[in-house]
Amino acid sequence: MISERAGKIKPSATLSIDSKAKEMKAMGVDVISFAVGEPDFDTPDNVKAAAVKALNDGFTKYTPVGGIPQLKDAIIEKLRRDNSLEYMRDEVVVSCGAKHSLYNVAQALYSPQDEVIVPAPYWVSYPDQVLLNDGIPVFIETGEDNKFLATPEAISEKITSRTKAIILNYPSNPTGFTYGRNNLEGIAELAVKHNLYVISDEIYEKLLYNGVKHVSIASLDPEIKKRTVVINGFSKAYAMTGWRLGYAAGPADVMKAVENIQSQSTSNPTSFAQKAAVEALEGPQEFIGRMLAEFDKRRKFLVSGLNAIDGVSCIMPEGAFYAFPNVKKYVGTGTGKWRIQGSSDMAMYLLEEAHVALVPGSAFGAEGYIRMSYATSMENLREGTSRIKEALSKLSR
Ligand SMILES: *Cc1c(COP(=O)(O)O)cnc(C)c1O
Repeated sequence: MISERAGKIKPSATLSIDSKAKEMKAMGVDVISFAVGEPDFDTPDNVKAAAVKALNDGFTKYTPVGGIPQLKDAIIEKLRRDNSLEYMRDEVVVSCGAKHSLYNVAQALYSPQDEVIVPAPYWVSYPDQVLLNDGIPVFIETGEDNKFLATPEAISEKITSRTKAIILNYPSNPTGFTYGRNNLEGIAELAVKHNLYVISDEIYEKLLYNGVKHVSIASLDPEIKKRTVVINGFSKAYAMTGWRLGYAAGPADVMKAVENIQSQSTSNPTSFAQKAAVEALEGPQEFIGRMLAEFDKRRKFLVSGLNAIDGVSCIMPEGAFYAFPNVKKYVGTGTGKWRIQGSSDMAMYLLEEAHVALVPGSAFGAEGYIRMSYATSMENLREGTSRIKEALSKLSR
């Protein structure tokens, strides 16, 4: 019998839909996937070269648990330069991906019955990571009218004596919207007043369009910094998803616990990947701008294509690489054997009948929406939206 804990969670919906799409492709079906959560760009050559050099130099052994000092220093410099944040080495821990950093932090912070506030739509892993660590996720519903952002008032209503933390993700996966300084100030004030931690997942920080500027909640003032764990990594900004490297920066006592947990589970992150990450942070940054310009074109193309489909509406995201269209008008429709009761039926229908893979909003706690990643070619965006349009036109009441 598996543990009660393991029984509480489900596999990551985004990863499982993507693998189903890959399976269909392997069987020869021409599937277009909007399900992936990773850049379709290759890791920059200078970063790869740094890993190759590390290998050739024999940098192939265990490293310090929390990451090599050289990488910690590069991260500290990055946080200073980009986010106006000052950290010491003992306030930074490098892990095997930002997802792993988030997991370690969950292990370090939550005790049984602790409540953790998670605004919805949320990234798929937050609730399950809370559950795996005996905490209780407490959701806040948000709406399109407020760009899917949680207001301080809405957060305030959910705070109880058992609330331990709030998880924020900005720019957001799945919505593409971000918290500005004003929103963050209100949330920071609440966190300080109620002595809550803020887990601030800023992995899409570099992917913001139209000159929107990223502000880290930790940078607002020393009081909120003391309660914030900043999460970031290399997967999205440097197209390094397969390298499995991310980091957390926060109060020394929390980071010490994170390091202890890591020392008893995965030990250190991969040695030569850490050398590559130093190059990612310290080398030329032009790659990001090029990728961003391409994503920007696709963003506009996809969103206008979606809005041209009868019954679909999509507000223009301001960051990350996802569109989050509203498909509520199709709930309750059907054709043949298909009855669309919600976003999950919609995703299944589009996958099987139109050979288009995307993630249902239900996976993110937002029924009536679907998430489409535009980290794919213009050609796929064109063909995919036209398939969706055709498939939806067959649905009726
Ligand atoms: C991709 C992603 C992560 C995890 O990134 P890794 O560093 O590859 O583990 C964390 N948070 C969000 C919101 C993401 O989309």
